[in-house]
Amino acid sequence: MKYNIYILLVILLIVSACNTESKKDIPVSVLDAKPKNIILMIGDGMGVSQLYAAYAIKKDELNIARCRHAALVNTSSIDDLITDSAASGTAMATGNKTRNGHLSVDTNGKILTTILEIAEMHNQATGLVSTSSITHATPASFIAHNPNRNDYEAIAADFLETDIEVFIGGGLDYFDKRKDGRKLTKNLAKQGYDVLTDPAKITNYKGKKLAGLVYPKHGPKVYEGRENFLENATETALEILNQETNGFFLMVEASQIDWGGHDGDSKYVVEESLDFDRAVGKALDFADKNGETLVIVTADHETGGMTITGGTLDGKNMVYHFSTDHHTPVFVPLFASGPGAENFTGIMENTAIFDKMMLAFGFNNSK
Ligand code: MG
Ligand code: ZN
Repeated sequence: MKYNIYILLVILLIVSACNTESKKDIPVSVLDAKPKNIILMIGDGMGVSQLYAAYAIKKDELNIARCRHAALVNTSSIDDLITDSAASGTAMATGNKTRNGHLSVDTNGKILTTILEIAEMHNQATGLVSTSSITHATPASFIAHNPNRNDYEAIAADFLETDIEVFIGGGLDYFDKRKDGRKLTKNLAKQGYDVLTDPAKITNYKGKKLAGLVYPKHGPKVYEGRENFLENATETALEILNQETNGFFLMVEASQIDWGGHDGDSKYVVEESLDFDRAVGKALDFADKNGETLVIVTADHETGGMTITGGTLDGKNMVYHFSTDHHTPVFVPLFASGPGAENFTGIMENTAIFDKMMLAFGFNNSK
């Protein structure tokens, strides 16, 4: 009997020791921490092969590899196995699946409120950065409401309806060379925006409200004149948003990984993926210093059915294949870093990205 009690005591001691030990493993700051800021980085069309193409070259220096949490994301739209960027952007922006081509409206055309608009309602600062026209599907799904993603002039007008602090991309023509004759950059100036149309001026911008419409339509390819625009625009957007005290939401998109996939052009895909990774590096640098910023890196879908069937260990002589000139339904990777990142694991729907961002911000999710 005495012997049994002794064993029981030992077991209890071991169990309590294990408990303390397992709690010790997880820093309290991670369990309790809520991020003040969220940066959502979207590589349009970046599946695992596109990511691997960048990894093969950069190895340990790949910035995305600095993230400690990872997941796989299902991207299908409400009625199509294969999504487009509008439906997938809407899923991430609003937590709702919709039809391809729709920007933050449901299948009945009803407006779906976006995380950017919700952040604004909570007096946070917000921003959008893109290498395409800022009216293109991915950035547009965070700020516009339209059943037709190609309605660029109406989408441009939607930018006047939200108090977004900074947006940088192409698309000047949809603001100023319009069928209705309006010059929306004049309206933007009236609403307090500094309007910049020269990409070279983005780096040195010091102000609080920026409309950077630095290309007439889309930005050029990274190796045909765009150079380090995406990194610079990301840094400038972060500087502007960090002046606000209530936290911020920023979405940064590398639009043209997708276009390389549509073209079956491996050089285009690889260079745009490397450019995206450099911008991710800027976001992670900011987050590391800031300590209150959740960074999420993902894609809206895979493009091109890209595979790699050969190459050398130094990342050279890679053999790429494309099996389609459209999107595919395969999982896209997701990485997360910073407070709240631990919630991004396993296999998830693209709508869960919105849900988890809402949870991280501590906002009431009543979608
Ligand atoms: Mg896009
Ligand atoms: Zn596409």
